[in-house]
Amino acid sequence: MSLLPFIRLRLREGGLPHDSGPIILGRPGVAGVCDACGKVLRKKRLVMDIPSGDHVFVHLHANCYIFWKSERHKAKSIARSA
Ligand SMILES: [Zn+2]
Repeated sequence: MSLLPFIRLRLREGGLPHDSGPIILGRPGVAGVCDACGKVLRKKRLVMDIPSGDHVFVHLHANCYIFWKSERHKAKSIARSA
């Protein structure tokens, strides 16, 4: 199943940020779940840490990150034109 509907929904509901801090870190997964798809972040897989607010990070799989990166700008422009 495509991740896009999940990511759009998470953006709309506020579960994923529209903006991020200037530095996004990539590192091997340690534990926890992806904030986009809700699946486990496995060790040895690339995980993106996206700064969102004060000392809060959103953790995404690398492929979820790519979808989020493209969708967050679309969602923002829709919100702006409404
Ligand atoms: Zn994911």
